[in-house]
Amino acid sequence: MTIYLDNAATTPLLPEVKEEMKYVIDNHYGNPSSIHKLGRTAKTLIEKARKTISSAITCSVGEIFFTSCATESNNMILHQCISNLDVTRIITSPIEHHCILHTLEHLTKHNLLIEVVYVAIKPNGQIDYENLKALLTSSEKKTLVSLMHGNNEIGNLTDLKVVSQLCQESNALFHTDTAQTIGKEYINVQETHVDFLTGSAHKFHGPKGIGFVYIYGDHKLDPILHGGAQERNMRSGTENLICIVAMAKALEISLANREKWQAHMLLLKTEMKKMLVDTIEGIEFIGDQENSLNHVLSVSFPPSPHLDLLEVNLDMNGVYASAGSACSSGTLTASHVMDALNINPLRKTVRFSFSSLNTLEEIKEVVKRCGKICNKG
Ligand code: PLP
Repeated sequence: MTIYLDNAATTPLLPEVKEEMKYVIDNHYGNPSSIHKLGRTAKTLIEKARKTISSAITCSVGEIFFTSCATESNNMILHQCISNLDVTRIITSPIEHHCILHTLEHLTKHNLLIEVVYVAIKPNGQIDYENLKALLTSSEKKTLVSLMHGNNEIGNLTDLKVVSQLCQESNALFHTDTAQTIGKEYINVQETHVDFLTGSAHKFHGPKGIGFVYIYGDHKLDPILHGGAQERNMRSGTENLICIVAMAKALEISLANREKWQAHMLLLKTEMKKMLVDTIEGIEFIGDQENSLNHVLSVSFPPSPHLDLLEVNLDMNGVYASAGSACSSGTLTASHVMDALNINPLRKTVRFSFSSLNTLEEIKEVVKRCGKICNKG
């Protein structure tokens, strides 16, 4: 039996989402920009999907733009806040996703006026909000704060309310990457002001290659892709109709089942922690254990000669999880997140991540297989 516990990397499509995609493929091939009936119908489907996404975070439909992924959305915000909104200082954390950190490296390399400041993190990886406040009040420069909502490697949740409040007090802009939380955590931009928010369908059982960005109504950004007038001139290129409709369907289902699925994933996580501690001596968990995503469990295994190739061994034993290095195109180099947390490099880190489709039986089986690998000899 193979067991998939890599849902923070990507999730399988739900059958209902597949059905929806098939329906669009079979019935709606028109170009949404065409003014004939086929085109108009396709356009209507896109606007319906936009309504679903906007309702999910309680914003207006005009504030949602479809993109190809969270990476594109994040790039758009970082680039255009500098180009269009006079941002010269960006506060972020050392444990953001590479699509933030590498974009910022690129931007500072090409624009020496841009200052990037990394907020301090606590030993458990939680944002040091006092330090954030101090950084925000220490400069007059136009500042953007970019902090992810849920960390993809260790699962820590950032308190959006606290960050939002601090940003408003200092007149800073606030961007949050919700790739790991949209459809899972409660997000309401009416209650908690956010200037920019980004997400990606494949993290919530939608297809790969489709994402979105929320841009607070007052902000006028130029597109990074120029061409036709799609997405009200914000993102040119013929819309990915099939995937846009599928993303909305996946989000709708995720939200309708949010509480039930969250409870289920929390159960899997709690049980897995208990079973791992009972089975393998010296197990530790990385990240803020009080305030974290229910679907992410970062496990630190004690140093042992048997564990040199732990992730390969798990793979060979039919368990699909991620090494600490996570989504870096299959590389097994040390993760920047583990480095930032000063995790002993002799210990092995594996991220197990769950979805509503996983069962307790699977978790028991994974712990058993981990035990066999770790306790042999
Ligand atoms: N941001 C976070 C927090 C992620 O976990 C990921 C996925 O790996 C991304 C961004 C990138 O998402 P996408 O694959 O849609 O570009």
